[in-house]
Amino acid sequence: MRTAALKIETVTEESFEPRPFQVYTDRHLDRIEALKQLPEAQRFEMRVVASVLPFRVNQYVIDELIDWRAVPDDPLFQLTFPQREMLEEADFERMAALLEKGADKREIAVAASEIRARLNPHPAGQMELNRPMVNGEVVNGLQHKYRETVLFFPAQGQTCHSYCTFCFRWAQFVGDKELRIASSEAGTMLDYLRQHPDVSDVLITGGDPMVMKTRNLKQYLEPLLGEDLAHIQTVRLGTKALTFWPHRFVTDPDADELLALLERLVESGKHVALMAHINHGREIGTDIAREAIRRIRDTGAEIRSQGPLLAHINNDPDAWARSWREQVRLGIIPYYMFVERDTGAKRYFEVPLARAWDVYRQAMQKVSGLGRTARGPSMSAGPGKVEIQGVAEIHGEKVFVLRFIQGRNPDWVQRPFFARYDDQATWLNHLKPAFGEDRFFFEDEYRAMVSEAE
Ligand SMILES: *Cc1c(COP(=O)(O)O)cnc(C)c1O
Repeated sequence: MRTAALKIETVTEESFEPRPFQVYTDRHLDRIEALKQLPEAQRFEMRVVASVLPFRVNQYVIDELIDWRAVPDDPLFQLTFPQREMLEEADFERMAALLEKGADKREIAVAASEIRARLNPHPAGQMELNRPMVNGEVVNGLQHKYRETVLFFPAQGQTCHSYCTFCFRWAQFVGDKELRIASSEAGTMLDYLRQHPDVSDVLITGGDPMVMKTRNLKQYLEPLLGEDLAHIQTVRLGTKALTFWPHRFVTDPDADELLALLERLVESGKHVALMAHINHGREIGTDIAREAIRRIRDTGAEIRSQGPLLAHINNDPDAWARSWREQVRLGIIPYYMFVERDTGAKRYFEVPLARAWDVYRQAMQKVSGLGRTARGPSMSAGPGKVEIQGVAEIHGEKVFVLRFIQGRNPDWVQRPFFARYDDQATWLNHLKPAFGEDRFFFEDEYRAMVSEAE
């Protein structure tokens, strides 16, 4: 530890009280004090939606992030609490009828899983196409889609401090166990990395790996310090804890131990990046979130931010510009603006690609160069991450200009390609090639990859 850090930490301990982590799920909706001010009908609607989609919120989010005077339109309320329109009307009515007549748990569970099955629980072929092997066996909880980077889902990290209503991994937080992707074994992940010298980045994700105790995180992170894993240059930790539970880095009993772990990784010469999910600038406005940011950066780790563009939450260039400006001021590096994925409550949150590009462009124009490091709007689709670079008119045809930021084949990256302009399209599969072509340049190759995996 550097001495400057020690000095500031003393001050910290005096100014931030530890807070017990208190969390509510669908079974405890009635116990949330703040909801009691809402009409009974609205609380019933929440129960209906929470019977299908995952719900979990903690007291810090309720007390410090949501502006209850602005409910239901408040963006942080929309981010964490179920809303009626998140389900199709017929599905909502079906579930509402079951709850009204006091149906038994089994009947509710059956209806819920039927409704979920129609919500595209595993977008972009996550289950079939990304199963790496170690010693002849498929490893659960590992995804290796792009050459440089392996994603790892530790089993104890498959939950979050609160759930986001738009989450594209929602399926792993609801009843049906077969939908989960998780690994319980550090050993297999490490073996896989040892056998793949091409891999330079590990991204530990979830759920949220920051729900894990530091002593559990150590199982995965400490071995990366070894000579045999020197090719792993970057360790990323995907998390929402920075804004949903900043206490994780400040007052939790093992917060200091966590920071010391990050510092050791940094001192060993690795790049450590906390990939923070940020959906709205308000999330980084509290004193404790700022203290968490300061303490993380003090370890030498970087914080990069990412999040999707969402109707009802941040479909507004000013909201993005404010958030990016504030992030830069606090030392966070804007990384990705995503397009909301084609799963779960996507109808509720989706924004046409044309609008997404317009929000991105306007927001970019409002920030200095340091805020323009976010790429996007980007669709994480089966073939790769596809960015909408803009709308143009070429020989009288209005087109989207697109490029791969990441591709299953690295050779696809950074080649501009074109789709017919469509003001309604919300995802890659809605787009048609421009200029009378019958397919995009990567399609044959991608199809071959898919059929090989089947
Ligand atoms: C985004 C992503 C990565 C990381 O890609 P970068 O371009 O390095 O940020 C890795 N794996 C998957 C599956 C991803 O979606």
